Amino acid sequence: MTTNREIHLAARPQGWPTEDTFRLVTTDVPTPGPGQIVVRNTYLSVDPYMRGRMNDVKSYVAPFALDAPLDGGAVGEVVASEADGFAPGDTVLHGLGWREYALLDAKAARTVDPDLAPVTAYLGVLGMTGLTAYAGLLDVAAMKPGETVFVSGAAGAVGSVVGQIAKLKGAGRVVGSAGSPAKVDRLKALGFDAAFDYHGGPVREQLRAAAPDGIDVYFDNVGGEHLEAAIGAMRPHGRAAVCGMIAQYNATEPPAAPRNLALLIGKRLTLRGFLVGDHGHLRDQFVREVAGWLRDGKLAYDETVVDGIENAPAAFLGLLRGENLGKMLVKV
Ligand code: NDP
Repeated sequence: MTTNREIHLAARPQGWPTEDTFRLVTTDVPTPGPGQIVVRNTYLSVDPYMRGRMNDVKSYVAPFALDAPLDGGAVGEVVASEADGFAPGDTVLHGLGWREYALLDAKAARTVDPDLAPVTAYLGVLGMTGLTAYAGLLDVAAMKPGETVFVSGAAGAVGSVVGQIAKLKGAGRVVGSAGSPAKVDRLKALGFDAAFDYHGGPVREQLRAAAPDGIDVYFDNVGGEHLEAAIGAMRPHGRAAVCGMIAQYNATEPPAAPRNLALLIGKRLTLRGFLVGDHGHLRDQFVREVAGWLRDGKLAYDETVVDGIENAPAAFLGLLRGENLGKMLVKV
């Protein structure tokens, strides 16, 4: 192959992105310089945080540049190497997705073992989203056995793993919310004690029915009405791991909820935001534990795979609309 296709940011979206936000561009396949490798990407990770990087605002991660390739997690095969420790045929994990061929400094790539787990797992359950679930639940929210846990976005990459780890770690009751009856059925099959479709009525009422005695831990992937309902349902000394607020990523107005923050005082609640990147010290423990659960069949994970780099924009738009079950990926 001599040509490479990649997805560029063509315009900064106001509100919801569209197909016009993206542009498919053809370039030459790069050649590696000293210390570099070229990787033929096989799977790309599609992640909600990318929406924030499309805005030209100061944040914890730099905005995407206009008319330049997007990036994100990817796995692929080394096809050319000028770096010690990497040879053609090696499978690597790295951060230059959204293109067919990535030119990388070798130190920005990590070799993974394709015999230990399917390569896609390194982008999801054994990768960034799995660690987010693990660190958020066990470190940030410090869930204890016997507690009642509520997770929103529960059928997604992070949420589905949160609910299952909560059960594996002895939670008394695990409740999930998701955006369709089919997703609710899937949550029950994954072992959630109760699950509801947030389109089916006010979250506050559905949560009260699912957890009549209240909740101790809330893992927030959504924000807004979900966060307000969780604060209302929390028992004294409840904790929220604030992971994401996808309900407002495309909003053009400030969110209406939560309106009940004063409850934090009397109930002595803790709402703690976190970034997975700050929890790298847990990685070895996380991989050991999660790989064991996967091997023993105690942890299941879903993937939604969209075929072809030209369909990566559609995959991203679909993720924002809830078309994924589990981890959203593009097969290059
Ligand atoms: P998911 O696999 O959960 O995909 C996103 C899901 O969000 C969709 O499938 C959709 O499911 C749901 N959703 C979209 N809009 C709404 C809405 N208005 N209200 C409720 N749900 C909505 O993505 P991830 O698992 O990768 O990420 C989950 C969350 O975690 C995101 O908020 C993300 O930004 C955050 N995150 C944070 C990290 C950190 O370090 N803090 C690291 C990784 C992720 P449905 O059909 O149920 O609506």
